[in-house]
Amino acid sequence: MSVYLFNTLTRSKEEFIPIENGKAKIYCCGPTVYNYQHIGNLRTFLFEDILKRVLMYNGFEVTHVMNITDVGHLVSDEDEGDDKMELGASREGKTVWEIAEYYTDVFKKDLQRLNILFPDVFCKATDYINEQISMIKCLEEKGFTYKTSDGIYYDTSKFPDYGKLAKLDLEGLRAGERVEFSDEKKNPSDFSVWKFSPKDKKRQMEWDSPWGVGFPGWHIECSAMSTKFLGNHFDIHCGGIDHIPVHHTNEIAQTEACTGEKFVNYWLHGEFLNMGDVKMSKSSGDFLTLQKLIEMKYDPMHYRYFLLSAHYSTKLKFTFEALDAAKSGYDRLLTNVLKIKNSVSEIKTTENTFKEHEKFKAFINDDLNIPRGLAQLQQVISSELSNEEKLFLIYEFDKILGFGFKDAEEKPKDDIDIPSEIITLVENRIEAKKNKDYKRADEIRNELKEKGFEVIDKKDGYEIKRL
Ligand code: AMP
Ligand code: ZN
Repeated sequence: MSVYLFNTLTRSKEEFIPIENGKAKIYCCGPTVYNYQHIGNLRTFLFEDILKRVLMYNGFEVTHVMNITDVGHLVSDEDEGDDKMELGASREGKTVWEIAEYYTDVFKKDLQRLNILFPDVFCKATDYINEQISMIKCLEEKGFTYKTSDGIYYDTSKFPDYGKLAKLDLEGLRAGERVEFSDEKKNPSDFSVWKFSPKDKKRQMEWDSPWGVGFPGWHIECSAMSTKFLGNHFDIHCGGIDHIPVHHTNEIAQTEACTGEKFVNYWLHGEFLNMGDVKMSKSSGDFLTLQKLIEMKYDPMHYRYFLLSAHYSTKLKFTFEALDAAKSGYDRLLTNVLKIKNSVSEIKTTENTFKEHEKFKAFINDDLNIPRGLAQLQQVISSELSNEEKLFLIYEFDKILGFGFKDAEEKPKDDIDIPSEIITLVENRIEAKKNKDYKRADEIRNELKEKGFEVIDKKDGYEIKRL
């Protein structure tokens, strides 16, 4: 069965034909580790996990590479402002290296908690400075760069196809000069490949280079590391949709200018998780982490289920009502799966399972239509099939859905069943206590009691019990 994927480059669904028979080489833009990854970022990593699982399921030998951006990503993707890493370090009174290590570890833990398969290679930008310098040298030799007072820039007017991924209107951009850009830049879309350290300030991360002490631009790390690990021309490159107009556009320009070859065949992009009507973002400060959801007594699988109920290419609005619905849906599904598991001692394949299985494969191979696959799982569970047949299908579908049903066990009810309304009340009570408003704190305690819950204060937080 063929796999079809929506390719941003051609704006169409295409059959996936690998460069090398039976192999799929994927590069995914990883996190910038100056802060926690929010649950929006995790949506993108989950979409990439599904892509990888689907390709593996179809028998491809997948090589999956993900970078860790620990230098060079400035506050604006268009090279304006400070380095996010240095800002993060001063916010926390730690070194850049310390925060990079801390947030990388938390990120990896979140992936694990969400059953997201680890890439074969995690590569940190700071470990591959030489490779980045080599690529900049290559661009310089071919005449694609120029120097300004603050760095070495890529001249986008020299690359004939610049903006092809995003279908950028360069003429419009040049004519209107909508983007504020420094006087020294030749074109608004030009971007830095190497930035000089400021003369008046010592940066924590800086390296010698043929152009002077400084640090690489953000885009060059992905060009240098992806080609290092996957070759000049590879199959799939992924990220969130915000990467289309700048980051991925610039990666293509740099890499193809340097290698003279086509860079990537399929570009896949995950849509945003929105908070209300706006993109969840770290810069807004108002974002949710997986850890926060766990503290609110959601299981990471509730969040996985929530995400899988929407196709990766559609916007998804986060609300606690929707998460609560996903939680109930997942808990019901798990209860049914456990009942089936406990009632049989073996799995069985029949003509019926074959048909259902083919249907499921057609869904997932159709540009990762997981919502349809999930709905099919529900149908199988409530069908007339025997429990042995059902269990075969549950385990097969779960290789893609990734809930870990093979290892799943019954959870104590108390642990999974605290409504979000109660958590909010408990948090309001903590806030009231912080503000020394003990009257309000007591009122909330009583309100909780009326609703059947008791809150017990602990040294490192609180415990909520059903009365
Ligand atoms: P960053 O750590 O900002 O470099 O982002 C890591 C990944 O998350 C990138 O692929 C982004 O495109 C993606 N991303 C950022 N915000 C969101 C969001 N609200 N929803 C889904 N993906 C996002
Ligand atoms: Zn990247």
